[in-house]
Amino acid sequence: MILRVEDKTFDASVPIVIIGAGACGICAALTAKENGVESLVLERDETPTGSSALSTCLIPAAGTRLQRAEGVEDSVDRFAADLIAKAKDQNDPKMARWVAEASGPTVDWLVDTVGLPLSLVKGFKYPGHSTYRMHGSPNRTGSELMAALTGAIARENIDIATSAHVTGLFANEAGHVRGVRATRPDGATEDIGCDALILACSGYGGNPEMIREYIPEMADAIYFGHAGNQGDAVLWGRELDAATADLGSYQGHGAVTHPHGTLVFWGVLTEGGFQVNLQGKRFSNEVRGYSEQAVEVIDQPDHVVWEIWDHEGHELGLSFQDYREGVEMGAIREAGSLKEIVEQSGLPLDALSETFEDVAACIRRGRKDDWGREWQGVEPLEPPFHFARVTGALFHTQGGLVVDGKARVLREDGTPLPNLFAGGGAARGLSGPSRWGYLSGNGLLTATVLGRVAGREAARLVEGQHCRLG
Ligand SMILES: Cc1cc2nc3c(=O)[nH]c(=O)nc-3n(C[C@H](O)[C@H](O)[C@H](O)COP(=O)(O)OP(=O)(O)OC[C@H]3O[C@@H](n4cnc5c(N)ncnc54)[C@H](O)[C@@H]3O)c2cc1C
Repeated sequence: MILRVEDKTFDASVPIVIIGAGACGICAALTAKENGVESLVLERDETPTGSSALSTCLIPAAGTRLQRAEGVEDSVDRFAADLIAKAKDQNDPKMARWVAEASGPTVDWLVDTVGLPLSLVKGFKYPGHSTYRMHGSPNRTGSELMAALTGAIARENIDIATSAHVTGLFANEAGHVRGVRATRPDGATEDIGCDALILACSGYGGNPEMIREYIPEMADAIYFGHAGNQGDAVLWGRELDAATADLGSYQGHGAVTHPHGTLVFWGVLTEGGFQVNLQGKRFSNEVRGYSEQAVEVIDQPDHVVWEIWDHEGHELGLSFQDYREGVEMGAIREAGSLKEIVEQSGLPLDALSETFEDVAACIRRGRKDDWGREWQGVEPLEPPFHFARVTGALFHTQGGLVVDGKARVLREDGTPLPNLFAGGGAARGLSGPSRWGYLSGNGLLTATVLGRVAGREAARLVEGQHCRLG
């Protein structure tokens, strides 16, 4: 809710308020501090986690020191081209360019300044990335990302108020934000003034009404992201006449084990694995991307399918904590033969054998299958097989407030609101209008890069001075 005020006395005032203590909010706070300006981060939960902690902590970036050390050639142009190609030219090309440009320095900063021990993910390429540019934490888990970020916040003595749910913004008729209202769990409220506000409170994945309205195809899907992301940024922005875009855009995932709820590492498919429905038949090109695969899976009988891969994919998967948990929980199973898969899964043996033969024929002849999947560079699956029953899920939304290259929130006419910034899931991302435009890592890419840009630009606005983004 926007509370209209021209003049108001606040309980306390700070130069910058940041709403949300996920990756975006914390990157913004650290960057504002680097530029000499204090901020207060308000987080509705008792502990800062957000979708960032639920993530696999894979962050794409071009031109990083880690890429150079591994001899990987990449460039801003190449990364921007991949971002635009995945979204079929339907994202903002200027934004793709400036985000790609800032991505390398941001990942270097996460390693050097935040102290997050990232490494370059090699061995397979995520769909749509033309080279190795995905950077991951040691166990590929968002809890490692959030531990490093909150550690840096503590070192820098930046204030985070937790259990502080922002329930309203104070703004004048011109859209100048004066402050925010935080509601405590006991219902008490605190009004905090600010000179600039950064919306880092992510998207609307946790708001079933908004999902029904903007992404009806996922209305009945499991939501795997942070429940507290209720679309506040979009709702407030609208009241302030801010422009929104791509509200039907999202990251889905087509390989969440069911009913266990762990993630199957996507590389098992790119390494030659495939998915079959309960009739034992393939139904899609599995390797276009994990986001668009969610709907393909949900559309199958009982909304579940079986994913099958072999030892090669299994070995790669074991470096991911999620995958190891799937193995420990029994969600990811092993079989020495097709017959054993059938015994454990209830799949029809004839149909499954036929599917294996069809795939082997595609590989042998180097031809595309009926769904357009290319099979070059992989071998037919060999026992021991690994397999899991999976479903599709909604991970996070990618539409949001339209921002410019300074992360300033724009009105419909393209002019910026006076002192409002947004990043991460709160802002329109780079994935175009729908499910198919999500290039792996677009979520944390815009959380970290836009968080940094918003922190720098809010500091610059507040101080009226030139600030740096290392
Ligand atoms: C299972 C899973 C795996 C993923 N893996 C990856 C990956 O490997 N790579 C990648 O790039 N992306 C990944 N993503 C997406 C990625 O996690 C998100 O895009 C990213 O974390 C968004 O960061 P954020 O800071 O904008 O939001 P969040 O991390 O969700 O933080 C938003 C914070 O705002 C708080 N908040 C919301 N409203 C209010 C309010 N009114 N007042 C106060 N606080 C509020 C929330 O409690 C939350 O803590 C994954 C997502 C999921 C669900």
